[in-house]
Amino acid sequence: MSQTINSFFAMPMFLLLVGTLFPATYTRNNFQSLHPSFLSIQNKIETPGLRIDASFAGGNVIIEKVSNDTVYFKPDLRDTEGHWFYWNFRVTANKAQTWYFKSTEPNVLTGMGAAYSKDGGHNWNWIDQSWKHGEDIFQFTFGRDDETVRLSMGMAYTQDNFDRFIMPFSSDPRLKLETLCTTTNGREVEKMIISDFGQTPSIKILVTARAHACEMMSNYVIEGMLKALLGESKAMTDLLTRAEIMFIPFLDKDGVQQGDQGKNRQPRDHNRDYSGQSIYASTRAIRQQIPEWVGSIPWIGVDLHNPWIKGENNEWIYFVGNAHPRIEEEQEKLVDMLETSSRGKMKFTKEKGFLPFGTAWNTGGNYEMGASFGQWASTYADKGLIMATTLEFPYALNHGQVITQDAARKFGEDLIFAIAAYSEGKEL
Ligand SMILES: [Zn+2]
Repeated sequence: MSQTINSFFAMPMFLLLVGTLFPATYTRNNFQSLHPSFLSIQNKIETPGLRIDASFAGGNVIIEKVSNDTVYFKPDLRDTEGHWFYWNFRVTANKAQTWYFKSTEPNVLTGMGAAYSKDGGHNWNWIDQSWKHGEDIFQFTFGRDDETVRLSMGMAYTQDNFDRFIMPFSSDPRLKLETLCTTTNGREVEKMIISDFGQTPSIKILVTARAHACEMMSNYVIEGMLKALLGESKAMTDLLTRAEIMFIPFLDKDGVQQGDQGKNRQPRDHNRDYSGQSIYASTRAIRQQIPEWVGSIPWIGVDLHNPWIKGENNEWIYFVGNAHPRIEEEQEKLVDMLETSSRGKMKFTKEKGFLPFGTAWNTGGNYEMGASFGQWASTYADKGLIMATTLEFPYALNHGQVITQDAARKFGEDLIFAIAAYSEGKEL
């Protein structure tokens, strides 16, 4: 860790005094009884050298202190049980200089350190790797006075990103954009149905994402799938003549917009809300509406997730084996199809790309808190469900490949082509 202390000495003496009298720290203890969306408004800081806040959709940070040219921060866990790693904040530096960002908790940076956006969260890049100084610290060099960047552990994606993406397709007759439900905090959860709507479909495909609010990389995979489906390739045109494909891009819309972790949320994680009485509107709506939507037509369910932040089982794309043996066999067929049909922008291998049920974390014990999407879907194994799967797409690295927004979209294309090929012959 190399730091300069130029900014410290450049600071006028009166500001030093102010800094001494009113140290730049923030504690949230007084706000813990408030709703999480109010907390993010408080999670900001202004010093003579920079301003930091998380008061925007998807924002999340706790700033512990700013000292010399180093910002000490950590994720705002809110109602998360245990540790998690999502953070996303905005920084404006008063002048062109290098600032250091040091996490006060371990395991909040990916293998690529951090991502930055200079256009308000639309285009993201990983930091220059020479700027990554260790597991918990990175630098960012501001190139001009009053430059603003967003910094995040991943390539944050919220409603605004989705709206921009979908707008050019809004008048496409193959896309129906509807509302699945309204959340506790009054937000609409989108559902999109894609088809040529020409004849009664012989298969239905459901794709969901963001059961865990922080898992933004899934949305780029969905963008790739949608772009392929709404393009002109023969494989996709053929698929749309025989299929309806429903996408629910933000299962935990409140969490996405509020910048929550979502994973291990208390009192219940969205992906443990598929048994008993569902407490979230989106899971409740899925359990009611999907059986009505599929009717007697065979269907496939794909629930997109992102794994833990780095290391073993977290830096390659993989499918999570279902506890139901027949469903698991079907998953393996899709995995085989993806391995052979993948066009390779994002590497995918069956060896790493399939985590059989009963291995690593994928055991029955992991689901004691309530049923997951995969468990719920597999209750339809003898009533029309062909295959249901969870797919883990990593945040930063895939078999050593660097994941970008576009690479994730390319994988989405590969995925929908593989699903199209897999689903042939599975219809009524
Ligand atoms: Zn997840």
